[in-house]
Parts: sequence; structure tokens; C-alpha cells
Amino acid sequence: MVGGSAAGLRDRYEVIVVGAGPAGGAAALRLARAGVDVALLDRAAFPRDKSCGDLLGTWATHLLGRLRVDPARFAAYPPLDGAILYTPGGCVVGAGVGRAADAPPFTALDARVVPRLHFDAALVAEARAAGATVATVRATGLLRDAGGAVAGIRGQGPGGEVAIRAPLTIGADGWTSVVARGIGVARAASDWTGLATRAYVEGARGLDGRMHFFVGGPGRGYGWIFPLPGGGANVGLGLVADEPGANRLGDLFDRFLHDPASPARPFLAGARVAGPARAWPLAFGWRDTPLSAPGALLAGDAGSLVSPLSGSGIHNALASGISAARTARRALRLGDFGADTLREHDRRCRRVLGWRLALEAWFQARLRDPRAFDRFGRAVAALPGGPRLLAPILLNLG
Ligand SMILES: Cc1cc2nc3c(=O)[nH]c(=O)nc-3n(C[C@H](O)[C@H](O)[C@H](O)COP(=O)(O)OP(=O)(O)OC[C@H]3O[C@@H](n4cnc5c(N)ncnc54)[C@H](O)[C@@H]3O)c2cc1C
Repeated sequence: MVGGSAAGLRDRYEVIVVGAGPAGGAAALRLARAGVDVALLDRAAFPRDKSCGDLLGTWATHLLGRLRVDPARFAAYPPLDGAILYTPGGCVVGAGVGRAADAPPFTALDARVVPRLHFDAALVAEARAAGATVATVRATGLLRDAGGAVAGIRGQGPGGEVAIRAPLTIGADGWTSVVARGIGVARAASDWTGLATRAYVEGARGLDGRMHFFVGGPGRGYGWIFPLPGGGANVGLGLVADEPGANRLGDLFDRFLHDPASPARPFLAGARVAGPARAWPLAFGWRDTPLSAPGALLAGDAGSLVSPLSGSGIHNALASGISAARTARRALRLGDFGADTLREHDRRCRRVLGWRLALEAWFQARLRDPRAFDRFGRAVAALPGGPRLLAPILLNLG
């Protein structure tokens, strides 16, 4: 990946990270910077696309700062200028945030839209530069030691089957996680998953460098238009998977894009859809699913850590990847990869992410009725300074 392959891959590392999305990239980068002998494996060759709204909210950019990722990698994608919310009854609230043009990157109010094709490849490149071994391998199963602890992975590389051993494996392999399945972590039921789709457009108008959220319509879900440089935009629609509309998401998205009555139409009339729409599930967090087992940790979507109201998961993926790296280093220091030592990762993720996931779950349950958004929109609009307060909250959602 990133021009590499399984060539040079050894059969033993200190840590294996499976999956090179934001969770795996962050974990591998942290570990490599700390001098840990880490292999970062992905079934895809990079750069690769990932169905996503591409929004790096202000928490996500804050974490990029903590990861000391070179901001020059994202210089082509300037910070957003604000956020606007459209409610089903026609209330429009939000504002610019007035972030100073010369503010340092990855500091307050810095939210960006960076296509995952570039974002994930940039993290992988940073991890590789820090010393991680990066290779294209599809994990197919887990290796076990005599005591039953995870001891590495079996997989398929360009040269055929591989078996790679490590005392610790971090599963950052997303929705279809082989590592999560291998340690017996079940997927949440459909009332606790989402489904979202997105397409890129060219020639969007009037976005003013702001992100636009359109709530309501088909049950608990929303549409979005996130601006990209040069009149491009990431346009998408997401729903909780047990909503009746979820099985016709494609039709609903088509209407969102093309119907003259769509609230998105003023921005998209005359725009050209560039490439196919791509849908993918969202694994909402958090229902006490374990994030560790002897010899293994989970991070990001593999651990079901997507925010249940906004559907965003990059921040949670970065944060849980950083946490997994921290626990991995402690386990390496202690030479102990047992359940008690690794449970530190569960506790930290609960402390750092749990409160926000619980809050979003609470709001999601109460916003089943789209009219609730109208009441919310009117209340914010009536509040002195309300729209200006709302914008940074929306920018924080990624
Ligand atoms: C349409 C849509 C819009 C979204 N919009 C946003 C947004 O705007 N902002 C936001 O913050 N979040 C958004 N999300 C959620 C976000 O995309 C995910 O939460 C995020 O990608 C999780 O990162 P991750 O690293 O855990 O997993 P992923 O990004 O899914 O990465 C997993 C990686 O593992 C690899 N992999 C999988 N199986 C294997 C295997 N067996 N062996 C080796 N490698 C494997 C995959 O190739 C992939 O590279 C959106 C999701 C969808 C579907």
C-alpha cells in the first residue's frame, strides 16, 4: 500500500494493526513514533476511497495536532467557515465562526472536509515515515497461543497466504472486522446501526465555505452538503437502519440530489454528480461491547464507536486508536497481554468517549420526531447569539 506490498513483511512483530483507516493509522503512527516494531496491514492498496462525509470536525483536527501530523498534508483543504442547519419546517439556523485566516492549523474551530482518499493515505504515509511496516494483507483469521490468547493473524497477501505473529493485535478493520468477530464481539442490532451514502459533486453553488445539514424527511437521519475546494462538494444522506426508509436509501438520496423540492436543490441545481454514490453501514456506540480480549484490542468502527446522532466516527477512531497504542505500550513494558492489563483501553475509551456517545444516544432517541428539530431550530434562532453558538457545536461533530 502507498506503493508498497507485502514485500519485506516479517512473520513476527511487537504489535500488528489490522486496518489502516483513521483508527489503525493513528495507532500505528503513535506506536512507530515510540519505537515499537509495528506492522500496519490493510486489505486495500492505498490511496483508497472510503464512503464517508469526509468531515474532520474540530475534535478530529485537535487529535491530528496531538498526533503531530504535518498540517501541510491538508493545506489544499482550508478550514470551514461555519455551519448551517435546515429543519424540516424550513427553519434555517447557524452562522459563520469567524476563524482568523492566519490561525495556526489544528487549533480552535479548525474543521475541514478532506476526502478520505487523501486523509487516510496521509496518515498511513506518516506512520510509514515514523517506521511502521506497511503492507497489503487481508486478514482472514486469528492465530492463538497455547492459552487461547490472540497471537497474530492469518491472512492473504499478494504473494499468497501469510501468518504473522505478535503478542498484541489491534483490530482497526472497520465494520466487517475480522478481529472483532474472532474475539467474539457481536455486531449491534439494526436499531443501533446506521446506513449512509455519499457522492461527490462538481459545480455546487452558494455554500460559502460552510457545511450544510438538512434534518428530517425520512425519519431519524439527515442529508448534508460539505464544501470542497473549487466548487466541489461531498453530498450524502444517512439514516438509522431500523427506519422504514433505510431499505430505499438510494431512492431517497436520488431525490435529495435531484428533486426540485429538495432543500439541497438551491445549492446543487446545475451541479454534476461525479462518480457513483457509495453506501456503508455505521456501527453506533456504545452498548458495553468489549474493546479488548487477551492479546487483542479494538479501535474505531471495529469496536462500534460511531456517534449515534451525527453518524461521525473519525474522531472516535483517532481517539480509540491513540488509546489502543497507549495500552499496547504499557502491555509491552509489563510483558503482560492478559485481559486485566488490556481492559485499561476499555476504561479509557469509556472515560474519553463514553459520555459523548451516551449524550448523542439520548438526543437521537428523542429526535425521532422531525418536528422536534423545528422546535429546536426556532428556540436556537430566538436565543440571543443562538446561531453563533450552534455553529461551533455543529463543526465539532466530526
Ligand atoms: C456515508 C458515510 C459518511 C460518513 N461521514 C463521516 C464524516 O463526515 N465524519 C466522520 O467523522 N465520520 C463519518 N463517517 C463515519 C466514518 O467513516 C467511520 O467512523 C470511520 O471511517 C471509522 O474509521 P476506522 O479506521 O475505524 O474504520 P475504516 O475507516 O472503515 O477503516 C477500516 C480499514 O480496515 C481495512 N480492512 C477491513 N477488513 C480488513 C481485513 N480483513 N484485513 C485487512 N484490512 C481490512 C479496510 O480496507 C479499511 O481501510 C461516515 C460514514 C459513512 C458510511
